[in-house]
Amino acid sequence: MTREVVINSSYFVVAFLFILGLKGMSSPVTARRGITWAGAGMVLATLVTFAWPGMGNYGLMIIALILGGGISWWSGRVVRMTDMPQMVALFNGMGGGSAAAIAAIELARGETHGTAVTVLAALGALIGSTAFSGSCIAFAKLQGILRKTMHLPGQNAVNVILAVLTIISAIHAIVSGTAAGLAVFFGFALLLGVIITIPIGGADMPVVISLLNALTGLAVGFEGYVLNNPAMMIAGVVVGAAGSLLTRLMAKAMNRPLFNVLFKPITGEVRAGGAGITGTMKEISALDAAAMLRYARKVIIVPGYGMAVGQAQHKIREMTELLEEVGVEVKFAIHPVAGRMPGHMNVLLAEADVPYEKIFDLEEINEEFSQTDVTLVIGANDVVNPAARTDKSSPIYGMPILNADRAQNVIVIKRGKGAGYSGTENPLFYAENARMLYGNAQTVVGELIKDLKELMS
Ligand code: NDP
Repeated sequence: MTREVVINSSYFVVAFLFILGLKGMSSPVTARRGITWAGAGMVLATLVTFAWPGMGNYGLMIIALILGGGISWWSGRVVRMTDMPQMVALFNGMGGGSAAAIAAIELARGETHGTAVTVLAALGALIGSTAFSGSCIAFAKLQGILRKTMHLPGQNAVNVILAVLTIISAIHAIVSGTAAGLAVFFGFALLLGVIITIPIGGADMPVVISLLNALTGLAVGFEGYVLNNPAMMIAGVVVGAAGSLLTRLMAKAMNRPLFNVLFKPITGEVRAGGAGITGTMKEISALDAAAMLRYARKVIIVPGYGMAVGQAQHKIREMTELLEEVGVEVKFAIHPVAGRMPGHMNVLLAEADVPYEKIFDLEEINEEFSQTDVTLVIGANDVVNPAARTDKSSPIYGMPILNADRAQNVIVIKRGKGAGYSGTENPLFYAENARMLYGNAQTVVGELIKDLKELMS
């Protein structure tokens, strides 16, 4: 068998593994398997690179592999589950950055392989650099290093001028073929990513994270074309397509057209009072809450970011089993943007072995709240904020929310008076049918389990 046949057949297997992996990731039941398949594809694609005709610098390649593989293996092991969204943003940025680096080298070499390829290389450079710096900003916002919303005066005009300057500098870099021209182009492209992402914040973050993910895929696909590397083309197209679908889904979940996310960003900051909120927050003891749950016919649990912070998922599964033992029907309602990354709650509940058939999406379960005795909100805030339905001044106005407030009783577990990610006050906590159960999610659910056991003995 010739070397070419081995390389091409390996790439065929790589493509097959990537697609199999993506298919696996479409359901929580097969997601782990999907990750393994895709990972195997990536290992094979990396190994095949060593066999490429004309390939050199093996020593450098091995050092890069040891460094990159080592750092990601270590960070993957030590990262706390609550920091996972930031890490995903950062790793996504690395993909865009790598694509941009490839483009930089290809453009700097100046061995043009035809106008179409040069244009694709420049497009990959632009998109990859933007995705890289944009992802770094998303990381900084999720990590709390940067404020969630920072608006420049005349933001949209600045965006447009910068985009035009970036395109002009790209054309100049290609035509002049100078290193300085390239540096200016990459500088503008990186700045564009920063300037576009900086004002996007609050509840719009899920949309921008998936958009950056799609852009990274696109950049990798373009550079795959430039390098004539089928594995990169396929991986790029698959990530680009999956990211675009996710962006659409997230934008739909927020009821925010992509145009508005990018050009009419939410500018609201924490509102101390919460306009138009009446009533007071009423506290409940763990024992009373346990009794309410024990004698309910039907309970819907709404987990949110606080469940991830408190790492309460295992205790929640234990509590669910206790309630079911005494005949209470328990379901989980998951909002598409709950937590800090797409699928965040599903991943945590799957990790705690909560059966998938008990987990429902917003559209599937929203009508059921009105026939529910108790909604148990665990560390969720924005995704159950009724202001999204009625308060036009709210930064999350128009976002579909879980109808938690429509149950007969609502118990909210949270540590104190902290606002949700969007910084908005939540009238649900002041509602007549709502009771606040203060404390860290894991500790409080532990207390509920203890009290339930006493009630059941
Ligand atoms: P929120 O961030 O709106 O609210 C979480 C609540 O949990 C807070 O009010 C906090 O209150 C409470 N909390 C925090 N830690 C604990 C703990 N240890 N124990 C108990 N409670 C705790 O979460 P939601 O899931 O409701 O909404 C997600 C938000 O994040 C949306 O605005 C979404 O747009 C945004 N977002 C989502 C992303 C995604 O991809 N899913 C990405 C980026 C942003 P207190 O401090 O009082 O305890």
